Amino acid sequence: MEDTIAAISTSLGVGAISIIRISGPNSIEIVNKIVKIKNLDKVNSHTINYNFIIDGDKTIDEVLISIMKAPKTFTCEDVVEINAHGGISTTNYILKLLLKNGCRLAEPGEFTKRAFLNGRIDLQEAEGIMNLINAKTDKAHNLAINQLSGKVSNLIKELRNDIIQILANIEVNIDYPEYEDIIDLKTKDIKPKMELLLNKIEKILKDSKNGLLINEGIKTSIIGKPNVGKSSLLNRLLEEEKAIVTDIEGTTRDIVEGKISLDGIILNIIDTAGIRDTENLVESIGVKKSLELIDNSDLVLFVLNNNEELSVKEKELLEKIKEKNYIVVINKSDLDKKIKIDNDISNIVYISAKEDIGIEELKNKIKEIYNLEKIETEDMTYLSNSRSIALLEQSYDLLKEAMKNIDMDIPVDMVEIDIKEAWNKLGEITGETYQDELINQLFSQFCLGK
Ligand code: GDP
Repeated sequence: MEDTIAAISTSLGVGAISIIRISGPNSIEIVNKIVKIKNLDKVNSHTINYNFIIDGDKTIDEVLISIMKAPKTFTCEDVVEINAHGGISTTNYILKLLLKNGCRLAEPGEFTKRAFLNGRIDLQEAEGIMNLINAKTDKAHNLAINQLSGKVSNLIKELRNDIIQILANIEVNIDYPEYEDIIDLKTKDIKPKMELLLNKIEKILKDSKNGLLINEGIKTSIIGKPNVGKSSLLNRLLEEEKAIVTDIEGTTRDIVEGKISLDGIILNIIDTAGIRDTENLVESIGVKKSLELIDNSDLVLFVLNNNEELSVKEKELLEKIKEKNYIVVINKSDLDKKIKIDNDISNIVYISAKEDIGIEELKNKIKEIYNLEKIETEDMTYLSNSRSIALLEQSYDLLKEAMKNIDMDIPVDMVEIDIKEAWNKLGEITGETYQDELINQLFSQFCLGK
């Protein structure tokens, strides 16, 4: 990297200490220009040095400066960290001084991106860092630590090694066809190895469902016609988990969102009761809008009124939600029962949002559907983001195709093409093979200063 970047690495606000981080070939030289005791080019690497930040004659702050010389640093470049007194104006002042003296403001995630590009970490570890920063539950935290420590990467590297072994067998077959009986070699060496590999990938893909649950939570929508008690239900669900109701800002103006944690898994709940302009979700925007919501959710809570008979549209939707994970929530169980539900509908929970009855049962039902109590994170290594999982699935499909071709006696050099592509796809998971565009997009999701 040519240039030297700087950013505030702590969150900007009033605090006891804030850290400004600098990375690049001129880090030490630039910081030396803005300190009172100009000895930073002479101090040992990995030392913390007492100093003052100055702007001309003016003292800006009394600071501790960590000097970490390449290559044993986070970015593998010269890194300087200034521990300043927290406070927005001091911290910004120091950052501005650095920019005036030759630093460029870092883009979000640029420090981590440099760590990746310089070979210090791979993509899984980089994503682990991001997940650690964003972890909202203990489970998500455990998962991120596993990812960060290279466990996920090792899993993928193992698969890649298996493929190399298979490719080696194929190469032998191509290079010395006269030495071996081709069919025999296929059945003896290639096929069993492929089968083992496919089994391994199947297991990882199965486990990764848990990884996704932990990392991305369960997209849950509450649907139902007006006045059945959707908002009341959402409030009941959120009420008990106030501590983690962080952002109910609502991505769309009319949709109310909330988060709760069930056994360390986040439920991202969308309450369609917020769609006020249409007033009548099931009856007037009708089944189409509801279907869209159902399609975009992992879990549908379909709220019905115990005190009313089912409408035609409700009956239609009941058919539709069967394709999804769903719970039929029959609210207003404190009132007389007028509703009649067909026997083939499972997952029914009776509640009264008003009287606070049945909410626990509803939560238990969700836990049961997703087997939440069984999700273990201590020793588990899960792929946990859609990007990696999609790549692993593509790799699996290619290997399956190769397997099919082996069975059909397609020439081995043709079979080899798919297997090599599968190897490449796995490489994209760890970033051993990558495209610039993807890397830029990925790291831009990080926060500033990381
Ligand atoms: P939404 O339009 O589906 O979001 O419904 P609301 O949550 O706004 O509730 C509609 C009305 O039903 C309100 O007057 C609530 O007080 C009432 N309500 C909600 N839950 C219950 C319940 O369990 N029992 C009874 N009797 N009334 C309820």
